[in-house]
Amino acid sequence: MTLPRPNVAILGGGPGGYEAALVAAQLGAEVTVIDEDGLGGACVLTDCVPSKTLIESSSTMTSLSRAASLGLELASGANPELEVDAPALNARIKALAAAQSNDIAEHVSGEGVRIVQARGRLTGPHTIEAAGTTVEADIVLIATGASPRALADGVPDGERILTCRQMYDLAELPEELIVVGSGVTGAEFASAYQALGSQVTLVSSRERVLPHEDKDAAVVIEGVFRRRGMNVLSKSRAEAVHRKGDGVVVTLADGRPVPGSHCLLTVGMAPSTKGIGLIEAGVNLDSRGFIEVDRVSRTSAQGVYAAGDCTGVLMLASVAAMQGRIAMWHALGEAVQPIRLSHVASTIFTDPEIASVGVSQAAVDRGEVPARVVKLPLATNPRAKMGGFRDGFVKIFARPGTGMVLGGVVVAPRASELILPLSIAIEQNLSVDQIAHTFSVYPSLSGSVTEAARTVMEFGTDAII
Ligand SMILES: Cc1cc2nc3c(=O)[nH]c(=O)nc-3n(C[C@H](O)[C@H](O)[C@H](O)COP(=O)(O)OP(=O)(O)OC[C@H]3O[C@@H](n4cnc5c(N)ncnc54)[C@H](O)[C@@H]3O)c2cc1C
Repeated sequence: MTLPRPNVAILGGGPGGYEAALVAAQLGAEVTVIDEDGLGGACVLTDCVPSKTLIESSSTMTSLSRAASLGLELASGANPELEVDAPALNARIKALAAAQSNDIAEHVSGEGVRIVQARGRLTGPHTIEAAGTTVEADIVLIATGASPRALADGVPDGERILTCRQMYDLAELPEELIVVGSGVTGAEFASAYQALGSQVTLVSSRERVLPHEDKDAAVVIEGVFRRRGMNVLSKSRAEAVHRKGDGVVVTLADGRPVPGSHCLLTVGMAPSTKGIGLIEAGVNLDSRGFIEVDRVSRTSAQGVYAAGDCTGVLMLASVAAMQGRIAMWHALGEAVQPIRLSHVASTIFTDPEIASVGVSQAAVDRGEVPARVVKLPLATNPRAKMGGFRDGFVKIFARPGTGMVLGGVVVAPRASELILPLSIAIEQNLSVDQIAHTFSVYPSLSGSVTEAARTVMEFGTDAII
């Protein structure tokens, strides 16, 4: 006798939704994904993929601007300048995002998943309605993501006052871009547009940029921003933004006006959880509207799971995907480990990048985690000298006595690639001793990781460095 296949319905096709769909299909479930915008979700279509594609172009601009310091000269005439072709740049970004979304849709439907392209809402804990289609399911996963917030007195118009999702529709490079908010998204866009040639003003309500990140790393990045000519306004809260003539004016809380050609608002993300029948279906939301979940992605409603940005648990694509997979493993009876956020590696794609994993300097400073800390400047690395990179460092946190690696921060070009050895060390319980005995290529930036580990050993894991 064959048992009936369980039905799974997934609302939202971003990394939280489509990765869950793949797992559920592989485990033999009958799966439907309902998504209104396209598979890959905001991650692929408007947020992560487009912004990182933009940053590939801006990094190339930065590399080329260093050409003279590396002994290179463009052959054609005096002071040739590289210019941004904004329509071509944005067309490339949008085409790449659309192609990636199509690839994901093909892969997911190739695994036998039904895709319904429509807006959906719950009409009960196990029923979703979307454009006249009713999907009944034993297991429901909500993965509806989040959307950019605006200022109460500053409504995006898609022309001059913009959210991060509207930047790729601009026909020209903003001449004077005011970025409101100096968190991860604000810092990434400010870094990219300054490199592309915009005059950027970064409005930060806090004392320094990236207030929630490693302080040493944030200080390096702010120094680079200022050195490259960015106008960083710290302790300056933006109250309002309005259009004025051909441009915009941001008004700060102390009344100061900040004029510019365009304003990008990066003041946080709001969960997409309103008006989709969640409360009526028994799904609890917290005071900010995020869906409450446990570490295996269960909500308060039986058989209803949630994953990704709509839960407010670390807003990263990798975390959304893992929450979605864990939900399906749990719902379909597989052995499952609850999510471990302390092992999540993340990167801020400024130039240079900041990558981190494991315990933070702030937790060590607060005395929550006993750790030995070593910080090695990148400027001493031979490969960095060859490339003309002087900003950055490798920092390792190790447990006193045993020398187990507890965390790390890398500030460097492509730090997103350099953090992996420290992630592996944390996941596999390796010690600084084991990293120090590992061959790194000479010369390489990753040589700073092994050297930092050797430095911890040299001073002993009981010493304060
Ligand atoms: C500018 C920016 C850059 C980022 N860069 C990175 C990065 O470099 N690395 C990283 O890890 N993370 C990055 N993130 C975060 C990352 O994009 C999110 O964590 C990720 O998209 C979350 O995935 P998700 O599945 O929760 O939702 P999403 O990707 O937001 O997808 C949700 C999907 O659900 C659909 N949907 C919503 N409501 C409904 C409904 N009622 N009916 C049908 N469909 C619906 C939406 O249309 C969308 O397609 C970035 C975010 C931003 C804003």
